[in-house]
Amino acid sequence: MSETKHHPVMTAARPVVLVVDDSPLVHRLLKARLRDEAIELRHANSGKEALEFICTNDVATVLLDLGMPDMDGFEVLRALGAKEDAAHVPVIVLSGQQDSQDKVMAFALGAMDYITKPFDLAELRARMRSSLRMHRLVRMLSERAQLDGLTGLWNRSHFDERLTQLVTTAERSNRPLSLALLDLDHFKSINDNYGHPAGDAALQGASDIIAQSARGSDIACRYGGEEFAVIMPETTPEQAQTLCNRIREAIEARDWPAHPDRKITVSIGLAGSDGASGLPPEQWVAHADAALYKAKEGGRNRVVVTHMSKGMPKLAAAS
Ligand code: GH3
Ligand code: MG
Ligand code: MG
Repeated sequence: MSETKHHPVMTAARPVVLVVDDSPLVHRLLKARLRDEAIELRHANSGKEALEFICTNDVATVLLDLGMPDMDGFEVLRALGAKEDAAHVPVIVLSGQQDSQDKVMAFALGAMDYITKPFDLAELRARMRSSLRMHRLVRMLSERAQLDGLTGLWNRSHFDERLTQLVTTAERSNRPLSLALLDLDHFKSINDNYGHPAGDAALQGASDIIAQSARGSDIACRYGGEEFAVIMPETTPEQAQTLCNRIREAIEARDWPAHPDRKITVSIGLAGSDGASGLPPEQWVAHADAALYKAKEGGRNRVVVTHMSKGMPKLAAAS
């Protein structure tokens, strides 16, 4: 998949491998032995520490000791399996136990591989690389399931997920946030006059402009049919308005080979706040949608901004 601006989760950073072991000796040993691997090696000294790290970091593989005081490796596996966002992190058990009961139990609890100590370095490396490959594939698949097929933007289900996260973060940290809903004007008539393929090409062209205009931290999505959404973290309503006007002008300025005589324009509804607004994600969508409606009513090809703030009227959820 090509790396584009609107795919913020794709980074060039080295994959993080977490070693979980109560023995500092094992940490030192692995650090020395895996020095030349293209990974970032991190350490946890207990199961509890490991769980905390995995929940707050993007871990690509865990090398897990079974015998640890307090919380043993089996308990760590059980806890990871119960966490929705950690269940897919591959775990290689590193154990002093040859016991097949232990192996069976570890695999039953979701371990992806099992290596007995003392380990052979070449084998450990090979198994770790295979685990990293698996992690990359799983991530690519789950990412692909969240992309829109026609435009390559994030799809609606990704939008819903990220909006909830980003509204929660902005509210908690009292930071700016903006949300734009964009709807192409009189788009039905493009299909009616020039055919559906011309309509599809216009959707692709418009989405390219939106993706290119957005910054790396913005989430550009296809919200539905000819509607798009951009979530802009750390962006004040004023900054978002500038960006939206740039998108609006670029779409209007674009020439379309399938219909050279006909311009396409977009109407944009913007909901933004400089800090905590006290409003839930649904209200952000409802207010952006109401602003979009005003932009349509006001004559289309324009941006209408709503400042989200405590005590503003609650709107019925947008459909
Ligand atoms: P308005 O300015 O009020 O938004 O008018 P509109 O014609 O854009 O609005 P309306 O919602 O009535 O029509 C949206 C049209 O978008 C309906 C459908 O023909 C078209 N559309 C939706 N999804 C697709 C798609 O995937 N491909 C194509 N070619 N057209 C689509
Ligand atoms: Mg529409
Ligand atoms: Mg429309």
